[in-house]
Amino acid sequence: MPTCENCNTKWSWKQTIKKTSTLDPAMTCPYCGEKQYQTQKSKTECASLIPIILLPNFFIELGSLLLILFTVLILLCVLFHPFFVEISNKEAYINFFEK
Ligand SMILES: [Zn+2]
Repeated sequence: MPTCENCNTKWSWKQTIKKTSTLDPAMTCPYCGEKQYQTQKSKTECASLIPIILLPNFFIELGSLLLILFTVLILLCVLFHPFFVEISNKEAYINFFEK
């Protein structure tokens, strides 16, 4: 679960879902009101879950089971991703020129 870098308060699962489900990269901390951003590392980890969800597509012979599996996997991804989310005071972006 993410911890606010400004006030060191751990966000709840519900708050994380709420904050990460918006398209706005800035997430306002529900405790201190400071803007927090998901870290680049954390974003990459979330993106790495996508191939796992797409994997059942290769088992076409599963037929109707595929749809159920697909739904379950998406649900699992949504339910568990707050545990992997990390946040920071600074907005994360890929910068190839900075070490
Ligand atoms: Zn805070």
